[in-house]
Amino acid sequence: MSTEPVVIIGAGWAGLAAAVRLTEQGHKVTVFESAKQAGGRARSVSFNDLDVDNGQHLLIGAYTECIALMKTVGIDTKTSLKRLPLLLTVADKSTKNKLILQAPPLPAPLHLLYALFTAKGLKFKDRIAAIKFSLYLKKCNYQLKQDISVELLFRLTQQTDILVRQLWEPLCLSIMNTPIKEASANIFMNAFRDAFTNKRKDADLLLPTIDLSNLFPNAAVKYIENNGGKVYLKSRVENIEISNNEITAVKAKIDDDKQSIKTSQVIIATAPQNLNKLITEHSTLNSISNNIEQFNYEPIVTIYLQYPEEIRLTQSMIGLSNTLSQWVFDRGSFCQQAGLISVVISASGEHMAMDDDTLTQLVHDEISILLASKPTLIKSFVIREKRATFACTVNINDIRPANTTNVKGLFLAGDYTNTGYPATLEGAVRSGIAAAKHCYRL
Ligand SMILES: Cc1cc2nc3c(=O)[nH]c(=O)nc-3n(C[C@H](O)[C@H](O)[C@H](O)COP(=O)(O)OP(=O)(O)OC[C@H]3O[C@@H](n4cnc5c(N)ncnc54)[C@H](O)[C@@H]3O)c2cc1C
Repeated sequence: MSTEPVVIIGAGWAGLAAAVRLTEQGHKVTVFESAKQAGGRARSVSFNDLDVDNGQHLLIGAYTECIALMKTVGIDTKTSLKRLPLLLTVADKSTKNKLILQAPPLPAPLHLLYALFTAKGLKFKDRIAAIKFSLYLKKCNYQLKQDISVELLFRLTQQTDILVRQLWEPLCLSIMNTPIKEASANIFMNAFRDAFTNKRKDADLLLPTIDLSNLFPNAAVKYIENNGGKVYLKSRVENIEISNNEITAVKAKIDDDKQSIKTSQVIIATAPQNLNKLITEHSTLNSISNNIEQFNYEPIVTIYLQYPEEIRLTQSMIGLSNTLSQWVFDRGSFCQQAGLISVVISASGEHMAMDDDTLTQLVHDEISILLASKPTLIKSFVIREKRATFACTVNINDIRPANTTNVKGLFLAGDYTNTGYPATLEGAVRSGIAAAKHCYRL
């Protein structure tokens, strides 16, 4: 076994997934992370004396690799994730219609068909259209020869206004973080297949009962270091060195000290917007950097609203339509933060032009329709992740890079690589594991 470490650039979920799986196989790894904490775009932050996340995250039962990895690093996934059988409620502010979709304990995909057929807030014609949609996706094997927008897919399959507004669009925004008129139907269908057609439990909602940093990143760092690896925080990799088309070293800034680390295997696990800084100077990697230049990005905004402790929603998570607010979470019901409500707004929109106070007031007003009376807002906190994910647009899969590159010993990992999935924790983790496998053909 080589004594040189595999160098991993970035301690987000993808980089840590690669590092954990390599460590597990007895390989030495050195991870460099430019931030002061691990976790990347899924980490905890402090809000006064509260630990919250940089954005409210939701996992689903189909995130099998995430769950397996958490277990490897010693996380008790039964207590750290609150598992709820699929129950989606989306309330429309204008019509006051409440769509409620609840999956019965039937094997997949019958649970979905039954849920669609019995959903509250839908008329008979909506139910038939929704079932036809599921059957159409199955018939085309969840893949169209020519990718189209999700909006066009809804039109082609004659989805009704209520279905689009109160079910498919909220789902698409939360899964893809891209408006339906731009989002890739093929990626949407891939995610739909994984959530709804294999096992019933794949569609379960998994809500973190602890903060995101403790859900995986911190335990992963401990696991790597306890097993002979090293994780350097506040340490940016500035260059990768390539000679004769093979990786030879990386140059990193560790505690203001520039160091060159010899290695023949590097996994770059940064976000796509940070990749080109490391590769553009190497002409052999031009096709990747040109493709990355074409990526666009979408924001996710989370508004945390602290109300008196007794304030509760009727469910842990409720959707809203015809509002800026999209999904509303009652953190008191799953992570012991009584009275703390988090509101997620995916993708770009008019909210991005509003200042925090205006946005908070608007969201505070909007969510009061979910509560018996309008409660006193004690404090609030807005987190805007401006480049939360790449825009999951039509044909984006054609330019998402593979894990391997044409430079020997150089691999890529991250939610933006060609996993077939949208930018999600599961996509990031799967990509990290795939890159690790390429390193030593694990
Ligand atoms: C607000 C928000 C909400 C989200 N909600 C969900 C959700 O509900 N469910 C879900 O599944 N997904 C969600 N996502 C998406 C999910 O968080 C991401 O897909 C995932 O975290 C990406 O992980 P990654 O490892 O690919 O990239 P990143 O997390 O971006 O990790 C890359 C790391 O590389 C580091 N880095 C960059 N350059 C260098 C360098 N030169 N040297 C050293 N280190 C470097 C960065 O600091 C970073 O830590 C959400 C994302 C956001 C932002």
